[in-house]
Amino acid sequence: HVKANGKSGVKIYESELDAERQRKQELEDQIRLGLARGEFEVVYQPVIEAATGALVSVEALLRWPGRPGGALGPDEFIPVAEASGLIARLGLFALRRACEEIRPAEGLGLCVNISPAQFLDPAFEAHVAEILLETEFPAERLELELTEGYLIDHPERAETAICSLKGMGISVALDDFGTGYTSIAYLRRYGFNRIKIDKSLASRITFDKQAAILVAGVINLANGLDMAVTAEGVESEQQATLLKLAGCQCLQGFWFSTPKTAAELRAVLPLEGAESLALRRGFSSFT
Ligand code: C2E
Ligand code: MG
Ligand code: MG
Ligand code: MG
Repeated sequence: HVKANGKSGVKIYESELDAERQRKQELEDQIRLGLARGEFEVVYQPVIEAATGALVSVEALLRWPGRPGGALGPDEFIPVAEASGLIARLGLFALRRACEEIRPAEGLGLCVNISPAQFLDPAFEAHVAEILLETEFPAERLELELTEGYLIDHPERAETAICSLKGMGISVALDDFGTGYTSIAYLRRYGFNRIKIDKSLASRITFDKQAAILVAGVINLANGLDMAVTAEGVESEQQATLLKLAGCQCLQGFWFSTPKTAAELRAVLPLEGAESLALRRGFSSFT
């Protein structure tokens, strides 16, 4: 416990803490209002099949363009939403909106990020089931992305939830692999359908030999355990080629496309009918 004793250093430290606390409180109030006013939007980043170049799925990513005071990225508002409990509503909003907007693109997969706080709620699976029913989105086209940290803290809940999601026909991916410390035992235990190699690791493979060896090993291991691999943060052709050669099934990153609004996505691929699948083959970058 730090006590203000007249030393200016301590005072500044305390007032900085206050300012930070106040900033978070204000942001929390803005998120609550923003949700009520419909200020949040979802954009979609294409995920490409390495072997064919076909568009196989999109990852839904929250955006807040209408925020008073200027747009803010999810890396800034998601942690505040998580700390305040607002993530439950924000996360379900993102899932519902994404299901509504992507449903017409027959055959296209949809990946949605799920926060630990959402996932640990015992009612989570029921909420997901309800959204699928209401939006008529096929469970087989949905993949939920989880991050590793809380799996270790709450293994039983994680196992139950993953099991029932998979029972519903939903795929489950381990997101941000390479940033934490998931053990091989955990990969097996939870039966993930896919792992996503984090961009901080995937982006190093062209210049860092150890990173390249690590990524190749992870891809081998995952494939051996019947898990597909997506690499994120692919920003160059060289990176895409190396990942493809290493056996990585799917690629995602600015080299192929930045995240797009549903309207922008609709402009490059007709979001309807099976024939659009053929058009999506040979999909090339449209950054
Ligand atoms: P993530 O799940 O790892 O998503 C990938 C992030 O990498 C996205 O950042 C995406 O725009 C960015 N990215 C994709 N390709 C490249 C590339 O080639 N280079 C670089 N430098 N970046 C690339 P974004 O949209 O800012 O999202 C950040 C994080 O916020 C996401 O990381 C995810 O953890 C979280 N997030 C976003 N939307 C949601 C949501 O609806 N729910 C939850 N719980 N979290 C979300
Ligand atoms: Mg993700
Ligand atoms: Mg994520
Ligand atoms: Mg990531």
